[in-house]
Amino acid sequence: MGLDNCPECGKLYVENAARLCPECYRRQEDDAEKVMEYLRDASKATLEEIHHATGVKHKIILRLLRSGRIVGSSLSYPCDSCGTPIVEGRLCDKCSRNILDQMRIEDRHKEHEPERKTRSRMYGKELDND
Ligand SMILES: [Zn+2]
Ligand SMILES: [Zn+2]
Repeated sequence: MGLDNCPECGKLYVENAARLCPECYRRQEDDAEKVMEYLRDASKATLEEIHHATGVKHKIILRLLRSGRIVGSSLSYPCDSCGTPIVEGRLCDKCSRNILDQMRIEDRHKEHEPERKTRSRMYGKELDND
């Protein structure tokens, strides 16, 4: 746990699971409540309609959707990677599969890492002796 700037207000705060300073976190919780309440009566509402009815910023509604705080709505939002409309998580099926593939490739690279590090350390020593 370290210090970080709140992505919402820019203030320095102690890093937490919510990734927001306590003040913005509380505000987000209030907003989440408002949106959830509105969606209980209007589950088919669009992002725009929710925004107008609750006054909650688009950005925050999207963040709540992405973090899984708003469930059961028919709202779609763009995939973090390619922009395809999705209704849950951060990535569309295709992109999450791609990321899994990439992680597997990175894992394979990591196996060779120690070897590379030793070699660069050896070069470093040679330079020092000069
Ligand atoms: Zn904040
Ligand atoms: Zn995608």
